[in-house]
Amino acid sequence: MKLEKRLFDLKFAYLYSTNTYLVKTGILDNKALKILLIEDNITDANQIGKMLKEHCCQPDIQHVQKIENAVAKLNQDSFDVVLLNMALADSRGINSLEMVQQKAPQLPTIILTTAYNANLAVKSLRSGAQDYLIKSELTGEILSRSIQYAIERQRIEFDERQQALMKKMVDKIRNSIDLETVLKTTVQEIQQFLDTEQVLIYRCESDRLEDISVVSSSLDKKSAQYTVAQFISVVDLHSLKSLKSQSIRVKAVADTRTIALQKYSAASQKLARSYLSLPIYVGEPKEYTHHNLTHPIIQQDDIQKPSEEIWGMLIAYNTSTPRKWQDWEIGFLQKLTTQVTIAIQQSQLWCRLQTANEKLQQLAILDGLTGISNRRYFDLVLSNEWKRLMREQQPLSLIFCDVDYFKAYNDSYGHQQGDLCLQQIATILQKHSRRSTDFVARYGGEEFAIILPNTDAEGALFIANNIQQKLAQRKLPHRQSMVSKYVTCSMGISTIVPNPQQSTVNLIESADKLLYQAKKLGRNQIAFNNQPSYQKFSVQ
Ligand code: GH3
Ligand code: MG
Ligand code: MG
Repeated sequence: MKLEKRLFDLKFAYLYSTNTYLVKTGILDNKALKILLIEDNITDANQIGKMLKEHCCQPDIQHVQKIENAVAKLNQDSFDVVLLNMALADSRGINSLEMVQQKAPQLPTIILTTAYNANLAVKSLRSGAQDYLIKSELTGEILSRSIQYAIERQRIEFDERQQALMKKMVDKIRNSIDLETVLKTTVQEIQQFLDTEQVLIYRCESDRLEDISVVSSSLDKKSAQYTVAQFISVVDLHSLKSLKSQSIRVKAVADTRTIALQKYSAASQKLARSYLSLPIYVGEPKEYTHHNLTHPIIQQDDIQKPSEEIWGMLIAYNTSTPRKWQDWEIGFLQKLTTQVTIAIQQSQLWCRLQTANEKLQQLAILDGLTGISNRRYFDLVLSNEWKRLMREQQPLSLIFCDVDYFKAYNDSYGHQQGDLCLQQIATILQKHSRRSTDFVARYGGEEFAIILPNTDAEGALFIANNIQQKLAQRKLPHRQSMVSKYVTCSMGISTIVPNPQQSTVNLIESADKLLYQAKKLGRNQIAFNNQPSYQKFSVQ
């Protein structure tokens, strides 16, 4: 926060009588203040302690003389305010303030000094101290008022900073629709934010252990999977069943070694010295009852499991060092996981949309009855192959294949049986057009078309003969056919080297004409526009 604003606040605050202002700002809540007093002068420390006891409600004062001890205290405990004498035996000046702030950036810090130093006062305030007080001028009233204002100002500042940080993180996380990127960014951001050794996000797909997969992690894939298995078996997550059925809460363990329970075996302590685990739920996030906007302290036992299914877990942990997880950090991460949930849902929605789109596209190009390509797709492929083979100056063959006496087939066996017959013929055509570039489509009714790129008339006739043969071998009965006891088809083959003087229309017309010829000549035969060396094949 700007220095001007801070000074304005101070001025503003002192204009009011203490109680009016305190009630107005809601500071007076009769809560015992937890104060960390960092003062190497024992007499001064006693004096300050006395003042505090007289003017604050039952203050809980923890006194240390060295910055090293202060840092250790901040690691173990949470405080409401820090009173800091910057000139200590093991640290002097602004450095002392920085060390405190690094450990507890959310804690309001008031500087206590023997002599007034204007430069140092401004520097301290700029570095985030809330006030700069001269010990000789101190009274209990001044001190208690300064503490109260410092706490309130720090809350406002801290919330502003948190909101800005949250916005930045959420912007980054939601910058992508791809789930993998979303989760990777989340892991990176959280690792940086918490300054922790590892962060894992893993997903539980069902009740079975095998269905757990690490979706994002700051570890390599193999160790991440191993770590998850270890976590589930040793670190108070019991089993996947408990993940699914019990209410999963935020777990913040500062030091697994200080908990003398058999659940933290030596192996688990080696894996995680300190950890913080949070559930990720899908669906609408539930409002947490103790979530106060201005002071997001999470009462862990009050967090209930939302009605949604658990999607997975997020774990931040340190393997080597203990770590006191601050309430505000936990609160911040909970807010962030809500945002991650939204990002996950968006990404899932996007995936479903894409699948639906793909299906729609497939529907647009496939024939509903036979499942092979439809006429629309045929037109597209033929036009593309025409262009390609014009450039390559290679032959393009087209086979038209029409089922003989199919009207009679329907009349005799029924339309449904007719449909089945068409499906069987489609399968034979598909199976026996051999190259990957060969393309079979239902052209309409009982008529099929096969595009054979880079295939001359001889090659096309070979394919057509083979198909006729395979159809004959299937022996699909057709008692009304005038040419056979079985279903047969007639074919017309046209081969062209695509050229600018002609178009696909010429190729289609030519194949159609030849098919007509084959019908006219007695059906169950092949007509073509070249004189290849293959023998015509027909079944009686
Ligand atoms: P030709 O040997 O000259 O080809 O005689 P055809 O009876 O096969 O030819 P025609 O054009 O007279 O009749 C085609 C028949 O194909 C008529 C129609 O009922 C049938 N048909 C077209 N589409 C379908 C379909 O999707 N399912 C069924 N079951 N029959 C179809
Ligand atoms: Mg027919
Ligand atoms: Mg026909």
